[in-house]
Amino acid sequence: MLEGVRGAFSRLVENIKTKSLSEKDVERYVNEFKLQLVSNDVALEVAEKLGEELSKRLRSMRFKRFGGAEEEVEKILEEILASVIHEADVDDVLRRIEEKRRSGEPFIILFVGPNGSGKTTTIVKFAKYLKSKGFESLIAASDTFRAGAIEQLKRLAEPIGIRIVSQKYGADSAAVAMDAVMSARANRIPVVLIDTAGRTEIDLNLLQEMNKIKRVVNPDLVIYVGDALAGNVAVEQARRFDEHVGIDYAILAKLDADARGGSAISISYSINKPILFVGVGQDLDSLKPFTRKLIMDLILSKSS
Ligand code: GDP
Repeated sequence: MLEGVRGAFSRLVENIKTKSLSEKDVERYVNEFKLQLVSNDVALEVAEKLGEELSKRLRSMRFKRFGGAEEEVEKILEEILASVIHEADVDDVLRRIEEKRRSGEPFIILFVGPNGSGKTTTIVKFAKYLKSKGFESLIAASDTFRAGAIEQLKRLAEPIGIRIVSQKYGADSAAVAMDAVMSARANRIPVVLIDTAGRTEIDLNLLQEMNKIKRVVNPDLVIYVGDALAGNVAVEQARRFDEHVGIDYAILAKLDADARGGSAISISYSINKPILFVGVGQDLDSLKPFTRKLIMDLILSKSS
């Protein structure tokens, strides 16, 4: 996982730990580092920001010839990485759900994202996670567009006791979402998770459909589910959803399959929204709260 970005960081440590650096060295290593980040899907603006911070810190750092330099470089890398990674507080979301439950109203989460990003699987993982925290949920099958989407939801969710509210394919997605909200109210289910359609290309029609659902159900949160393998494309897509629909958090699926790692670094900085979870496998337990520590351990670990 994330071998590409990890390689960029470890090469940098190797390069600079053993010698004192001239101005030229700093420039060369920082440029090399930025190039490696970009070739591993780190968005350009993020690579620039990391490079800028890095050269500032390297210039002001007094290199010792023996001992201590490696730790010092690693500390710098940790700090500059922390400056671009926004972590979310999952407990904060759980607290908000609890508050809403006390008021007797369901907490509504609208999930948006492109086709194939892992949205449907992620929603069921999320429902399972909520269940483990004592919150029942139901899922609105508002992707009435993709053939098989409703069956896929049922196949994944019903064995773990999560109910799906659905209508026929082609039905109005906002109406399905509203049905689910009413059913949750009637049955005192505290959380409604809304699965929505995606397209390979994000078009205006899709964004308008998302806006309509948003207007109709007035969700407490909108979460973008992106595919880590899509790299910079995932960052761009997140930006479009944010501009047109407005998102509160991102979840990055398929991190386990991502050999480069750029989107995990870029997405939250580029759209200025925290990442709530990452998906690290196809089974329903493979959803991990996204923390700086998780990503830094993956990137800065010395194992290859
Ligand atoms: P949707 O079209 O966005 O609803 O995407 P799906 O939920 O159907 O997921 C598309 C594919 O990605 C499926 O084969 C999932 O099993 C797979 N997938 C989803 N999340 C992950 C993940 O975190 N890791 C891996 N390796 N595969 C995932």
